Amino acid sequence: MRKISCGVLIFLLVSVTSLLGQTAAKVTALRCGSLFDGRGDALRKNLVVVVEGDKIKEISDKVPVGAEVIDASRETCLPGLIDTHTHILLQGDITAADYDAQLLKQSPEYRTILATVNARRALEYGFTSIRDLETEGAGYADADVKKAINNGVIPGPRMQVATRALNVTGAYPLQGYAPNVTVPHGVQIVDGPDNARQAVREQISHGADWIKVYSDRSYRVREDGVLDDIPTFTMEELRAIVEEAHRERHKVASHAMALYGVHNSVEAGVDTIEHGNYIADEDLKTMAARGIFYVPTIFVGEYVAQGRAAEGAPVWVKMIQIHEDTFRRAMKAGVKIAFGTDAGGFDWKVDPAKEFSSMVKFGMTPGAGSALRDCDGGRTAWHAGFAGDD
Ligand SMILES: [Zn+2]
Repeated sequence: MRKISCGVLIFLLVSVTSLLGQTAAKVTALRCGSLFDGRGDALRKNLVVVVEGDKIKEISDKVPVGAEVIDASRETCLPGLIDTHTHILLQGDITAADYDAQLLKQSPEYRTILATVNARRALEYGFTSIRDLETEGAGYADADVKKAINNGVIPGPRMQVATRALNVTGAYPLQGYAPNVTVPHGVQIVDGPDNARQAVREQISHGADWIKVYSDRSYRVREDGVLDDIPTFTMEELRAIVEEAHRERHKVASHAMALYGVHNSVEAGVDTIEHGNYIADEDLKTMAARGIFYVPTIFVGEYVAQGRAAEGAPVWVKMIQIHEDTFRRAMKAGVKIAFGTDAGGFDWKVDPAKEFSSMVKFGMTPGAGSALRDCDGGRTAWHAGFAGDD
């Protein structure tokens, strides 16, 4: 159990039961001063969450006889949170140098050890489920961390993993080294629809729950204020990836920050748009109609902006205002928004729950209102469409 910065207590059923080593018959009573149950905006007062084994049995007004009591009577309790965009294999990458150092100077084995610590941190921050969106050059290590958690070897949240992610030649770091020096890349590089299909098959065979694509790069703000980009894949390649993943009953997450990346992703039929700093109205309409999720990852954009501007890319500062405008238009258009943070893109020592404040700052209702219900909306979506979570 952990008290988080905004003074709430998150009941982590998985961790509570495993840490206390309970058997199925053991009953635990979590006495809550206030309870947010995700069914409405109002907090319920002075209630007891009764847990039998690893399941919530009931919400009661009294402690059952013989139950072990966890006293949170001065706290607010809420269900475990879901972060739909994390990188447990990454330790922050404000600058290219931060990123390159991790891929060049740390072995995948060492990075995996660090990832197990990050998985535990996610749980301690209150996130009982995460969708980890690629290992940034650490191969299939996320599938192994997930396995170790599922086998009870290490503590951590339920995980869905994307393994290596896909991008085309010349579009993803490490870049800028002499042509005769072989360097690792943060993704699996594929060119052409056939290679893309093969990579999807390969990743799924090694444990990918999701296929992640990087659909755009190289951002600039046009004179009319639109965030412009260079799309990475051809439509033929992108369609082949989506079709192959869907054929194998897997979903596709698309890193798409600007005009063409988002448009091409939506047209190709991806399931989630990651970041979406700029999304055209026409694409928001399509996303709402088809139920494509928007994972805005607001906080990380602010976190890296100054550092990247200092490195010669001031566009990252300009993107913040564009992002806010897009977020507000997305809410108005009725697009489904999932809570995702890009933790790992910022230091894991920073609580990813800060994203809630960013969502509120960009126009969501604060407190026990829309931002939290959005998180629960993510839970519903996870149940309905993301599969695998109980
Ligand atoms: Zn990310």
